[in-house]
Amino acid sequence: MNLKDKVIVVTGAGRGLGRGIATLLAGKGAKIACVDLNQDDLNETVRQCQAAGGDGKAYLVNVAREDEVVKLFDDVVADFGSLHGVVNNSGITRDGLLVKAKDGEITTMSLQQWQAVIDVNLTGVFLCGREAAARMIKLGVEEGVIVNISSLARQGSFGQTNYSAAKAGVAAMAESWAKELARYNIRTGAVAPGTINTDMIAAMKPEARDRLIGAVPLKRLGEPEHIAMSVAFIFENSYFTGRCIDTDGGLR
Ligand code: NAD
Repeated sequence: MNLKDKVIVVTGAGRGLGRGIATLLAGKGAKIACVDLNQDDLNETVRQCQAAGGDGKAYLVNVAREDEVVKLFDDVVADFGSLHGVVNNSGITRDGLLVKAKDGEITTMSLQQWQAVIDVNLTGVFLCGREAAARMIKLGVEEGVIVNISSLARQGSFGQTNYSAAKAGVAAMAESWAKELARYNIRTGAVAPGTINTDMIAAMKPEARDRLIGAVPLKRLGEPEHIAMSVAFIFENSYFTGRCIDTDGGLR
């Protein structure tokens, strides 16, 4: 796919990886529908998309809410006149151990902790993928692309039962959708970042941050642009579908 003038929805575009993905695709001439929960963050991403040479528009939407997601895709098609792809990037963490025994006391991951992550990281991806595919098929676009942002944690991760399950799920959804949607010329893919230099990492204690970096064969953190490059590869390579690209400095 040549990204010039293509209409792409990027969720979680207000900061971090989502902002990096939105601006890199905009730099290739795409029109980005930027989705997030914070208006100021969204306005800044839209500004950066325009500065990069593309276009952008802000949509305040909670991806875990079906009614809001359906309206989002209606609005994007009404505003831009088409739809060529979605990057399902919004995500949260609510880490905790499944079961912890300390001083004779047992604590567990709560159902709320589980459900909050599943709602955003798994159901949100399902809803946006479904609505994007339905619109692209209805519009009869020549080629459509759906990219789900997974994680290294999809292999299983200490203290992340909820997050790992969701991230394995979105990689599996990309593979299922590749099989179902190829007949409509819709390709899919997933990107699994390792440890990327975002606000969350910047806020860590220096020793913890150094330990994290020490485990990476390349001995440095990834930048949001590295993840954006993997996303762009999936959009641009017309023989790619259904697979997950680990972009983790060799960590896995
Ligand atoms: P971040 O917290 O900086 O950004 C996530 C964005 O998603 C935020 O702007 C947030 O407001 C938005 N968001 C959260 N819930 C939402 C909802 N219900 N509806 C709409 N938007 C919502 O995170 P990040 O580090 O940029 O991560 C982006 C994605 O990459 C996430 O899916 C994350 O799991 C994944 N990931 C990140 C890393 C990393 O090292 N940063 C590693 C692996 C995977």
